Amino acid sequence: MTVLPRATIVHRQELTAELWIIKLLPEIPFTFKPGQYITIGVNGIERPYSIVSAPHEELIELFIELVPEGDLTPLLYEMGVGSSVSIRPRAKGLFTLDSNYTHHLMVGTVTGSVPYISILRDYFEHRTQTGIFHVLEGASYSDEFAYFNEFSTLATDNPETVHYLPSISRPEEMRNSEWQGSQGRINNLVEQYIDNVGLRKKETLVYLCGHPGMITDVKTQLLPSGWNIKEERFWKE
Ligand SMILES: Cc1cc2nc3c(=O)[nH]c(=O)nc-3n(C[C@H](O)[C@H](O)[C@H](O)COP(=O)(O)OP(=O)(O)OC[C@H]3O[C@@H](n4cnc5c(N)ncnc54)[C@H](O)[C@@H]3O)c2cc1C
Repeated sequence: MTVLPRATIVHRQELTAELWIIKLLPEIPFTFKPGQYITIGVNGIERPYSIVSAPHEELIELFIELVPEGDLTPLLYEMGVGSSVSIRPRAKGLFTLDSNYTHHLMVGTVTGSVPYISILRDYFEHRTQTGIFHVLEGASYSDEFAYFNEFSTLATDNPETVHYLPSISRPEEMRNSEWQGSQGRINNLVEQYIDNVGLRKKETLVYLCGHPGMITDVKTQLLPSGWNIKEERFWKE
């Protein structure tokens, strides 16, 4: 049996009852491209997780959703600072920035926004390319927007480069009572956003990440008219 390298949980932050962030210190040098994923495991049960952090950061940051009936996340949920997980030594994935396009329309649901944070952290660390980022983030509840402050600050500080539209799908619920932003499923706002901003197919790549239902729905809307799309499904429907 292959003995896999390990990474220690050195930070844990609860966001909601089902969402939390961990930071891992790997025992081996771990390199990756922004937008790629790491495969972690507990007791031989392994799953891929997109990486929040950018390659220049020392720790590997992950944003995880508990799937109560799942095999791995209930085990991960019990693990605090000082525990360790196995890691596959190589990052994988093709959900990375394509700099052939000027406009990057990045649509994500909850943990599906993870690759976009990594890509933007890396972009503002190096600023070697030019690009305009449109992040459209959907969630049921506003407290699920883990990186709301980071996206908002990037958009405020770089109004020419980053545009951020978070939207909640359950505005009528008490949990969202303080939300003053956009309402409606993010799937239903994509076409309208494209029209409002005047995005053009030739210079725009649409990235879809997270909930498979959102991905299928947005593809159904955009593919017939020839939009270029890149996708990362977190699970099968
Ligand atoms: C490339 C890639 C990147 C990923 N990145 C992340 C990430 O950044 N954060 C993250 O939390 N997860 C991410 N995932 C999902 C992750 O790999 C696991 O599938 C998830 O954590 C559930 O694992 P589990 O063992 O607890 O459940 P499993 O035993 O694998 O699944 C149990 C059942 O739940 C379904 N399921 C899995 N995930 C969800 C979900 N979120 N909501 C509803 N049903 C689900 C499965 O299809 C299955 O039917 C990613 C998946 C892929 C393919």
